[in-house]
Amino acid sequence: MNNKNYRFGTKAIHAGAEPDPTTGAIMTPIFQTSTYVQEYPGKHKGYAYARGKNPTRDALQKNIAALENGKHCLCFSSGMGAIDAVIKMLRPGDEVVTGDDLYGGSYRMFTKVFANYGITFHFVDMNKAETIRKYINSKTKLIWIETPTNPTMQIIDIESVVKIAHEHNIITAVDNTFASPYLQNPLAMGADIVMHSVTKYLGGHSDVVMGALITNSDSLHEQLAFIHNSCGATPGPMDSFLVMRGIKTLHLRMERHCFNGKRVAEFLATHPKIEKVYWPGFPSHPNHHIAKKQMRDFGGMISIVLKDKSVENTFKVAASFKVFSLAESLGGVESLINHPATMTHASIPKAEREKAGVVDNLLRLSVGVEDIEDLLEDLQQALA
Ligand SMILES: *Cc1c(COP(=O)(O)O)cnc(C)c1O
Repeated sequence: MNNKNYRFGTKAIHAGAEPDPTTGAIMTPIFQTSTYVQEYPGKHKGYAYARGKNPTRDALQKNIAALENGKHCLCFSSGMGAIDAVIKMLRPGDEVVTGDDLYGGSYRMFTKVFANYGITFHFVDMNKAETIRKYINSKTKLIWIETPTNPTMQIIDIESVVKIAHEHNIITAVDNTFASPYLQNPLAMGADIVMHSVTKYLGGHSDVVMGALITNSDSLHEQLAFIHNSCGATPGPMDSFLVMRGIKTLHLRMERHCFNGKRVAEFLATHPKIEKVYWPGFPSHPNHHIAKKQMRDFGGMISIVLKDKSVENTFKVAASFKVFSLAESLGGVESLINHPATMTHASIPKAEREKAGVVDNLLRLSVGVEDIEDLLEDLQQALA
């Protein structure tokens, strides 16, 4: 299938999924094998050992590459495994500029793992060009962007950051997990690498942990593929199959996530127990104009700050839902509620966390694709 000629939903269903040549099976088989028989040494059908290559994973990688309009995709056994591979392209002494409102796991990996290998990370306000410039020097090799940010839903202007990176010959990588390829395609804005926690919207059914890296650069792909195979954070064929199946409805799910997200955000904005709603679809959101420029719609991720500041009350609200489930993660069909300060962002020190707006009375919602009336009724009763 020539991906360039098809629109998003058609690619979600068909890209990478050729009928199986031996049987005609329309679904890509789960090649549950660790190795492949060779005719004689070195003569094989392109597959030697399954850490390096697996046909089910190959099909998924082609599919995700098509969704990001990218040339290459590599899938990893988790989103963190994918980020790990990007940072392993660096050397001791190299520096990275990144946001001050990162996914907790990324922050932990940067500060507690790679800082020990002599790589320096600067956590800065990515909405201020002069701040980014201040931290760039001859050792800066990578700018790591996450947008929308988690959980305060800031929107970083990818094109403006890429422009600064290009002036200094620095690689830009974008964690596109929160937007999904349906809402935002950073390669088209000049980014060099797109990263996904496939666990979230791409998988979409809360049943797989996986990551992905997409790039148009042959040279970056070659370096990343080397690390992929050498370090070994590669996913299994069953998970690859499940994600391909999940992606077939990505466009339908995202439409409903966006529809429900808008209704929930509007409902919460006028609720008397709510102090603040973070959702980039509001014209009053400080980065609304950037969201409008670089995203197709505003998504179903929303954070709220309760008027009652006590952690006890926040916990009580978090535990009172009947349709929303209290859990980490996001992007699945089912609605989730999360208390970032003690769950996803617990690895960030309290002072750092609060500076980024992650206060104890903040709750994050991943609005699922259930019936909107049931979600609104659930919010109403939990807040009461
Ligand atoms: C979940 C998440 C990750 C990490 O991905 P895993 O699949 O859990 O390893 C990275 N970035 C963001 C924005 C995430 O939400």
